[in-house]
Amino acid sequence: MKYYIWTEGCQMNVADSQRVASALEHLGYHASPKAEEADVVVMNTCVVRQSAEDKAYGRLTSLNKIKKYRPELVINLMGCLVGVKGNVKVAERFPYVDVFSPPSDPTPLVEYLLKRDGRELEAVEVAQRFAWQDEDLVLPVEQRGNLVSAFIPIVYGCSHACTYCIIPYRRGVELSRPPEEILAEARALAAQGVKEITLLGQIVDRYGQDRPDYPNLSGLLRRLSNVDGIERLRFLTSHPNWMTDELLDTVAELPKVMPHIEVPIQAGDDVVLENMRRGYTQQQYRELVGRIRARIPSVSIATDIIVGFPGETEEQYQHTYDLLADLKLDVAHLARYSPRGGTVSARRMPDDVPDEEKWRRFRTLEELQEKLVDEIHARYLDQTVEVLFEEKVRGRWKGRTPTNKLVFVESEADLRGQVVPVRITRTGPWSMQAHLLAA
Ligand code: SAH
Repeated sequence: MKYYIWTEGCQMNVADSQRVASALEHLGYHASPKAEEADVVVMNTCVVRQSAEDKAYGRLTSLNKIKKYRPELVINLMGCLVGVKGNVKVAERFPYVDVFSPPSDPTPLVEYLLKRDGRELEAVEVAQRFAWQDEDLVLPVEQRGNLVSAFIPIVYGCSHACTYCIIPYRRGVELSRPPEEILAEARALAAQGVKEITLLGQIVDRYGQDRPDYPNLSGLLRRLSNVDGIERLRFLTSHPNWMTDELLDTVAELPKVMPHIEVPIQAGDDVVLENMRRGYTQQQYRELVGRIRARIPSVSIATDIIVGFPGETEEQYQHTYDLLADLKLDVAHLARYSPRGGTVSARRMPDDVPDEEKWRRFRTLEELQEKLVDEIHARYLDQTVEVLFEEKVRGRWKGRTPTNKLVFVESEADLRGQVVPVRITRTGPWSMQAHLLAA
């Protein structure tokens, strides 16, 4: 029996799909490279912007064609299109979907498959065990011993109410995972060859704030640093208001924690930030970037920006442009505002920036950022950096620097999973090329 998982959207969905794969592997299923050849197709969906939601509808429609000549195909719709409360409209529109699962939860699918196979009695217990026991987390057969970098969710859901954001509605309230579970999962991944773990949460730097009996993110990073086999740790996404000096000092101090911080600003104008209910000013964000750079030498910083938020004037947009130009951050994930049903901004603030104007702001920031990153990367030229190599892509080994820069190296050696010092020989805005030092 074979499964195929289609994953759209954020890293959290990648992690959720990994857990579904693990549960299916326990049931004796194996991964299929094509949906057309699978017995079970999981569609792990995203609704953060309309474009992502539309992709899911397109995929669902094409799956219906396969289902017509293979009615025994099991279609599992999962993730933010379903949400923690279920989605009646989607269920009515796609009646041929067999199972609906909320984000992060493989149990409905496992239960469905067990019941279908006449294993009702085992269903609930087995489903929960296979779906949730962290020390039992297995990677798909093809990935065991091959996957170098993996994700672990540490905070589910989100309780911050950014006015534009649908995630809290679809992923539910903030819930930190018990540290023992996270450690068990990290050890299980390490035993299967994983070298790098990225901890995930919508506001990952709030880890443990909802549970006084848990460590905070600094404490968790310390404990994860002791897991044998794991050589690198990262975490994302942080909210500016929860980036404590303690956390920054922990990143600086622990050798396994990489100097890379993902901390979205979303807009560089105080009125827009207020309308987004982000809870900080652009000046506070500038100070935060100063604090991060003072405490973590050679740090790289990534941010997220939304252009064309309701009411955003040319002048307000210009403040975002100026902020990016001043701060010279390593990465800016750019998005055009997309009203999401049920959110505060969609209900109360007209989507009044025309589409062409959103595109113009988007492209202008994109050009600025490309130029800035090109300059930042040029400084890596002739430097020696330690790269963790992940896989061979079109004849070249692909890896990442501690600062999360993409590096390619030509080598006949098997570099998978190894941290190797390289000399950077060429740079550009998207990636770098390098030579191995010891040839
Ligand atoms: N929890 C994280 C990430 C949320 S989703 C955070 O606090 O930033 C990832 C990114 O999608 C966001 O950072 C934001 O830039 C973008 N995004 C979220 N909602 C959006 C919307 N309605 N329209 C356009 N972009 C959006």
